[in-house]
Amino acid sequence: MLQVNDLSYNYPDEHTPALAGVSFSVRAGECVCVTGHSGCGKSTLLLTIKALLHDGSLTGGIQIDMPGDLATSHRDGIGIVFQNAETQILCATVAEEVAFGPENLCVPAEQIGGRIERSLAAVQLTGFEQRNVERMSAGQKHRLAIASVLSMNPCLLLLDEPTSQLDGASKAELVQVLGELKRSGYTLLIAEHNLEPFAELIDRYLLMEKGKIIRESRQVPVDFTK
Ligand code: ADP
Ligand code: ADP
Repeated sequence: MLQVNDLSYNYPDEHTPALAGVSFSVRAGECVCVTGHSGCGKSTLLLTIKALLHDGSLTGGIQIDMPGDLATSHRDGIGIVFQNAETQILCATVAEEVAFGPENLCVPAEQIGGRIERSLAAVQLTGFEQRNVERMSAGQKHRLAIASVLSMNPCLLLLDEPTSQLDGASKAELVQVLGELKRSGYTLLIAEHNLEPFAELIDRYLLMEKGKIIRESRQVPVDFTK
Protein backbone atom coordinates (compact mmCIF):
# COMPACT_ATOMS: atom_id res chain seq x y z
CA MET A 1 0.00 0.00 0.00
CA LEU A 2 2.67 2.49 1.06
CA GLN A 3 6.38 2.19 0.46
CA VAL A 4 8.77 4.83 1.77
CA ASN A 5 12.36 4.56 0.54
CA ASP A 6 15.28 6.43 2.02
CA LEU A 7 13.25 9.56 2.63
CA SER A 8 15.08 12.63 3.90
CA TYR A 9 13.74 16.10 4.48
CA ASN A 10 15.23 19.40 5.63
CA TYR A 11 13.05 22.36 6.57
CA PRO A 12 14.24 25.56 4.83
CA ASP A 13 17.36 27.02 6.44
CA GLU A 14 17.64 24.12 8.94
CA HIS A 15 20.96 22.30 9.04
CA THR A 16 19.70 19.27 10.92
CA PRO A 17 17.43 17.08 8.79
CA ALA A 18 13.92 16.50 10.21
CA LEU A 19 13.95 13.14 8.38
CA ALA A 20 17.18 11.30 7.65
CA GLY A 21 16.91 8.18 5.48
CA VAL A 22 13.52 6.83 6.54
CA SER A 23 12.42 3.55 4.92
CA PHE A 24 9.40 1.41 5.77
CA SER A 25 6.29 -0.03 4.22
CA VAL A 26 2.68 -0.40 5.28
CA ARG A 27 0.47 -3.19 3.97
CA ALA A 28 -3.18 -2.71 3.05
CA GLY A 29 -5.38 -2.99 6.14
CA GLU A 30 -2.51 -2.59 8.57
CA CYS A 31 -2.45 -0.13 11.48
CA VAL A 32 1.08 1.17 11.93
CA CYS A 33 2.17 3.59 14.64
CA VAL A 34 5.07 6.01 14.24
CA THR A 35 6.28 6.78 17.73
CA GLY A 36 9.11 8.57 19.52
CA HIS A 37 9.68 11.66 21.61
CA SER A 38 8.49 15.12 20.61
CA GLY A 39 10.61 16.52 17.78
CA CYS A 40 11.77 13.12 16.43
CA GLY A 41 10.05 13.75 13.08
CA LYS A 42 6.62 12.06 13.33
CA SER A 43 4.56 15.01 12.06
CA THR A 44 7.07 15.80 9.35
CA LEU A 45 6.87 12.19 8.13
CA LEU A 46 3.07 12.36 7.79
CA LEU A 47 3.27 15.74 6.05
CA THR A 48 5.78 14.48 3.48
CA ILE A 49 3.67 11.38 2.76
CA LYS A 50 0.66 13.60 2.05
CA ALA A 51 2.97 15.90 0.02
CA LEU A 52 2.14 18.97 2.10
CA LEU A 53 5.68 20.28 2.53
CA HIS A 54 6.53 22.38 -0.48
CA ASP A 55 9.55 24.26 0.82
CA GLY A 56 12.75 22.71 2.06
CA SER A 57 14.52 19.81 0.43
CA LEU A 58 13.08 16.35 0.04
CA THR A 59 14.92 13.31 -1.30
CA GLY A 60 13.97 9.65 -1.57
CA GLY A 61 10.80 7.97 -2.73
CA ILE A 62 7.22 7.53 -1.61
CA GLN A 63 5.21 4.95 -3.51
CA ILE A 64 1.53 4.45 -2.95
CA ASP A 65 -0.53 1.67 -4.51
CA MET A 66 -4.26 1.89 -4.35
CA PRO A 67 -7.17 0.82 -6.53
CA GLY A 68 -7.72 3.39 -9.30
CA ASP A 69 -11.40 3.85 -8.62
CA LEU A 70 -10.76 4.93 -5.04
CA ALA A 71 -8.88 8.08 -5.82
CA THR A 72 -8.42 10.54 -8.65
CA SER A 73 -4.71 10.76 -7.93
CA HIS A 74 -2.40 9.12 -5.46
CA ARG A 75 -2.20 11.93 -2.95
CA ASP A 76 -6.00 12.39 -3.05
CA GLY A 77 -6.20 8.79 -1.90
CA ILE A 78 -4.49 9.76 1.33
CA GLY A 79 -6.45 11.43 4.09
CA ILE A 80 -4.69 13.37 6.82
CA VAL A 81 -6.12 14.49 10.16
CA PHE A 82 -4.01 16.98 12.07
CA GLN A 83 -3.38 16.98 15.78
CA ASN A 84 -5.49 20.13 16.17
CA ALA A 85 -8.20 18.75 13.89
CA GLU A 86 -10.55 21.70 14.54
CA THR A 87 -8.33 23.91 12.40
CA GLN A 88 -9.04 21.78 9.33
CA ILE A 89 -12.82 22.26 9.62
CA LEU A 90 -13.88 24.85 7.06
CA CYS A 91 -17.69 24.96 7.05
CA ALA A 92 -20.44 26.03 9.46
CA THR A 93 -22.52 22.85 9.60
CA VAL A 94 -21.64 19.18 9.76
CA ALA A 95 -23.27 18.25 6.42
CA GLU A 96 -21.57 21.13 4.59
CA GLU A 97 -18.24 20.18 6.09
CA VAL A 98 -18.45 16.53 5.05
CA ALA A 99 -19.70 17.50 1.55
CA PHE A 100 -16.89 20.02 1.00
CA GLY A 101 -14.16 17.55 0.00
CA PRO A 102 -16.21 15.45 -2.46
CA GLU A 103 -17.68 18.61 -4.01
CA ASN A 104 -14.16 19.88 -4.61
CA LEU A 105 -13.24 16.55 -6.18
CA CYS A 106 -16.28 16.99 -8.49
CA VAL A 107 -18.10 13.93 -7.17
CA PRO A 108 -21.57 13.89 -8.81
CA ALA A 109 -24.18 15.65 -6.66
CA GLU A 110 -26.38 12.54 -6.38
CA GLN A 111 -23.54 10.67 -4.66
CA ILE A 112 -22.81 13.31 -2.03
CA GLY A 113 -25.74 12.44 0.25
CA GLY A 114 -24.57 8.85 0.47
CA ARG A 115 -21.02 9.93 1.20
CA ILE A 116 -22.21 12.18 4.04
CA GLU A 117 -24.33 9.42 5.52
CA ARG A 118 -21.59 6.80 5.34
CA SER A 119 -18.82 9.07 6.66
CA LEU A 120 -20.85 10.29 9.61
CA ALA A 121 -21.90 6.74 10.47
CA ALA A 122 -18.22 5.69 10.46
CA VAL A 123 -17.38 8.25 13.14
CA GLN A 124 -20.59 7.80 15.12
CA LEU A 125 -22.03 11.20 14.22
CA THR A 126 -25.22 10.02 12.49
CA GLY A 127 -27.97 12.56 13.15
CA PHE A 128 -25.58 15.51 13.44
CA GLU A 129 -26.01 16.62 9.79
CA GLN A 130 -27.54 20.02 10.53
CA ARG A 131 -25.54 20.69 13.70
CA ASN A 132 -23.56 23.91 13.87
CA VAL A 133 -19.89 22.99 14.23
CA GLU A 134 -19.40 25.67 16.90
CA ARG A 135 -21.80 23.79 19.13
CA MET A 136 -19.82 20.56 19.10
CA SER A 137 -17.37 19.23 21.68
CA ALA A 138 -13.66 18.83 20.92
CA GLY A 139 -14.11 15.06 20.53
CA GLN A 140 -17.06 15.49 18.15
CA LYS A 141 -15.09 18.01 16.09
CA HIS A 142 -12.16 15.64 15.85
CA ARG A 143 -14.47 12.88 14.61
CA LEU A 144 -16.05 15.35 12.17
CA ALA A 145 -12.59 16.15 10.78
CA ILE A 146 -12.10 12.41 10.24
CA ALA A 147 -15.53 12.16 8.54
CA SER A 148 -14.70 15.00 6.15
CA VAL A 149 -11.57 13.14 5.15
CA LEU A 150 -13.42 9.80 4.82
CA SER A 151 -15.98 11.39 2.48
CA MET A 152 -13.18 11.75 -0.09
CA ASN A 153 -12.79 7.94 -0.10
CA PRO A 154 -9.16 7.67 0.96
CA CYS A 155 -7.70 4.22 1.44
CA LEU A 156 -4.82 5.39 3.61
CA LEU A 157 -5.49 7.53 6.67
CA LEU A 158 -2.73 9.52 8.39
CA LEU A 159 -3.54 10.61 11.94
CA ASP A 160 -1.28 12.93 13.92
CA GLU A 161 -1.67 12.40 17.69
CA PRO A 162 -5.40 11.76 17.34
CA THR A 163 -6.24 11.84 21.04
CA SER A 164 -3.78 14.37 22.44
CA GLN A 165 -6.35 17.20 22.52
CA LEU A 166 -9.14 15.08 24.01
CA ASP A 167 -10.32 14.15 27.49
CA GLY A 168 -10.89 10.60 28.76
CA ALA A 169 -14.37 9.84 27.37
CA SER A 170 -13.79 11.42 23.95
CA LYS A 171 -10.43 9.67 23.78
CA ALA A 172 -12.10 6.29 24.24
CA GLU A 173 -14.75 7.13 21.61
CA LEU A 174 -12.08 8.14 19.14
CA VAL A 175 -10.06 4.96 19.67
CA GLN A 176 -13.26 2.95 19.17
CA VAL A 177 -13.95 4.78 15.89
CA LEU A 178 -10.40 4.06 14.70
CA GLY A 179 -10.91 0.39 15.59
CA GLU A 180 -14.07 0.27 13.45
CA LEU A 181 -12.23 1.95 10.56
CA LYS A 182 -9.51 -0.65 10.76
CA ARG A 183 -12.06 -3.48 10.82
CA SER A 184 -13.75 -2.03 7.74
CA GLY A 185 -10.46 -2.24 5.85
CA TYR A 186 -8.83 1.16 6.13
CA THR A 187 -5.06 1.34 6.34
CA LEU A 188 -3.99 3.57 9.23
CA LEU A 189 -0.69 5.31 9.94
CA ILE A 190 -0.80 6.97 13.35
CA ALA A 191 1.84 9.32 14.78
CA GLU A 192 1.61 9.06 18.55
CA HIS A 193 3.76 9.17 21.66
CA ASN A 194 1.05 8.25 24.15
CA LEU A 195 0.67 4.62 23.14
CA GLU A 196 -1.47 3.20 25.91
CA PRO A 197 -4.96 3.95 24.47
CA PHE A 198 -4.01 2.35 21.14
CA ALA A 199 -2.57 -0.96 22.33
CA GLU A 200 -5.44 -3.07 20.89
CA LEU A 201 -5.34 -1.33 17.55
CA ILE A 202 -1.71 -1.19 16.52
CA ASP A 203 -0.14 -4.01 14.49
CA ARG A 204 3.36 -2.58 14.30
CA TYR A 205 5.44 0.21 15.80
CA LEU A 206 8.14 2.30 14.11
CA LEU A 207 10.26 3.98 16.75
CA MET A 208 11.86 7.23 15.59
CA GLU A 209 14.76 9.21 17.00
CA LYS A 210 16.28 12.32 15.44
CA GLY A 211 14.60 11.80 12.08
CA LYS A 212 15.48 8.10 11.76
CA ILE A 213 13.57 4.89 12.39
CA ILE A 214 15.69 3.17 14.99
CA ARG A 215 13.48 0.13 15.55
CA GLU A 216 10.47 -1.73 14.14
CA SER A 217 8.49 -4.01 16.44
CA ARG A 218 5.15 -5.73 16.89
CA GLN A 219 5.21 -4.95 20.63
CA VAL A 220 5.30 -1.54 22.26
CA PRO A 221 8.98 -0.48 22.12
CA VAL A 222 10.20 -1.38 25.61
CA ASP A 223 12.68 1.39 26.25
CA PHE A 224 10.23 3.98 25.03
CA THR A 225 7.73 4.98 27.66
CA LYS A 226 5.51 8.06 27.88
P1 ADP B 1 4.47 17.99 18.14
O1 ADP B 1 5.58 17.45 18.95
O2 ADP B 1 3.17 17.95 18.86
O3 ADP B 1 4.40 17.46 16.73
P2 ADP B 1 6.05 20.34 17.76
O4 ADP B 1 6.33 21.08 19.00
O5 ADP B 1 7.11 19.51 17.14
O6 ADP B 1 4.69 19.55 17.97
O7 ADP B 1 5.56 21.38 16.65
C1 ADP B 1 4.41 22.14 16.80
C2 ADP B 1 4.28 23.05 15.57
O8 ADP B 1 5.40 23.93 15.47
C3 ADP B 1 4.24 22.27 14.27
O9 ADP B 1 3.33 22.90 13.39
C4 ADP B 1 5.66 22.37 13.73
O10 ADP B 1 5.68 22.31 12.32
C5 ADP B 1 6.10 23.72 14.26
N1 ADP B 1 7.53 23.71 14.57
C6 ADP B 1 8.19 22.84 15.35
N2 ADP B 1 9.48 23.11 15.42
C7 ADP B 1 9.66 24.21 14.65
C8 ADP B 1 10.80 24.99 14.32
N3 ADP B 1 12.02 24.70 14.75
N4 ADP B 1 10.62 26.07 13.52
C9 ADP B 1 9.40 26.36 13.07
N5 ADP B 1 8.29 25.65 13.35
C10 ADP B 1 8.41 24.60 14.13
P1 ADP C 1 7.30 15.33 16.12
O1 ADP C 1 6.04 15.32 15.31
O2 ADP C 1 7.88 13.96 16.33
O3 ADP C 1 7.17 16.09 17.38
P2 ADP C 1 8.24 17.13 14.08
O4 ADP C 1 8.11 16.41 12.80
O5 ADP C 1 7.20 18.14 14.44
O6 ADP C 1 8.41 16.07 15.24
O7 ADP C 1 9.66 17.85 14.10
C1 ADP C 1 10.85 17.23 13.66
C2 ADP C 1 11.97 18.24 13.69
O8 ADP C 1 11.73 19.25 12.71
C3 ADP C 1 12.11 18.97 15.02
O9 ADP C 1 13.47 19.23 15.23
C4 ADP C 1 11.34 20.26 14.78
O10 ADP C 1 11.82 21.29 15.61
C5 ADP C 1 11.63 20.52 13.32
N1 ADP C 1 10.53 21.26 12.66
C6 ADP C 1 9.24 20.93 12.66
N2 ADP C 1 8.50 21.81 11.95
C7 ADP C 1 9.39 22.72 11.50
C8 ADP C 1 9.28 23.89 10.71
N3 ADP C 1 8.09 24.30 10.23
N4 ADP C 1 10.40 24.60 10.43
C9 ADP C 1 11.60 24.19 10.89
N5 ADP C 1 11.79 23.09 11.65
C10 ADP C 1 10.71 22.36 11.96
